[in-house]
Amino acid sequence: IPDVGRKPDWLRVRLPTGAKFQEIMDIVRSHKLATVCSESKCPNIAECWGRGTATLMLMGSVCTRACKFCSVNTGNPHGWLDADEPANVADAVALMGLRYVVLTSVDRDDLPDLGAGHYAACIRAIHARMPDTAVEALTPDFQGRHELVAQVLDAGLATYAQNLETVKRLTHPVRDARAGYETTLDVLKFAKGHAPQTVSKTSLMLGLGETEGEIEQALDDMRAADVDVVTMGQYMRPTKNHLPVQRFVTPDEFQRYRELALGKGFLEVVSGPLVRSSYRAERVLEHNNVG
Ligand code: SF4
Ligand code: SF4
Repeated sequence: IPDVGRKPDWLRVRLPTGAKFQEIMDIVRSHKLATVCSESKCPNIAECWGRGTATLMLMGSVCTRACKFCSVNTGNPHGWLDADEPANVADAVALMGLRYVVLTSVDRDDLPDLGAGHYAACIRAIHARMPDTAVEALTPDFQGRHELVAQVLDAGLATYAQNLETVKRLTHPVRDARAGYETTLDVLKFAKGHAPQTVSKTSLMLGLGETEGEIEQALDDMRAADVDVVTMGQYMRPTKNHLPVQRFVTPDEFQRYRELALGKGFLEVVSGPLVRSSYRAERVLEHNNVG
């Protein structure tokens, strides 16, 4: 299926610059740190790193799932885990001087606890090393198992995120067959009930063929699940083997969806063509009395 063609101007990205960005990039290179920001060539890298925010990937680069929008390799890691990762992640946060770190990962359906214990260990290691750094976890769905979500939350999070990714009708084919629209909403609702002081967050990619009515329904479903923060960004096709872009959503439309969402009572809405789910993540720290 052909793509919609050439990128519009608003998706053209300037080369990152800035003293703080350069300083962190030198540290990342010299210590061979793996950040999602640099490895995914994220367009927001100078801005995020300049603010002391970055995203780190846990539990390897092989995912047990195969979502149709994602370029991560699919396979079975057969229970492999790096026991040094919690300490190494804490070191990376310290070296980069992060004030806000987002931890994310591949899905690990091969592990008995689906990786929840490893998340908790990494979060605790960061708190021990960098007590003033706020941690966000953007996790797998843990197959909807509440006790595993609780284990991650109990390690102490500023923000708990799990991405809905798309509207209900497009969940399949967009997400892996094991992922579910209702499962993600249920996990988010559980998370908010279990840890009301932790901001709950989710994300939508736009441009996959969803209608405005379906976006509005998704926003209503999120609010019904007590979600505090939503981000919306343009879907970009990683390779020709992935789902094609149906449409480039204009900056004005993103702004309109932001206003629509704010009107529904979200605490924060970040919406724009280049928005990734961790863009401006540290903004949640400006909100008091969450929950
Ligand atoms: Fe990193 Fe996320 Fe910022 Fe991109 S938006 S630079 S992945 S923290
Ligand atoms: Fe990619 Fe996450 Fe889907 Fe795995 S579960 S394929 S990492 S989006």
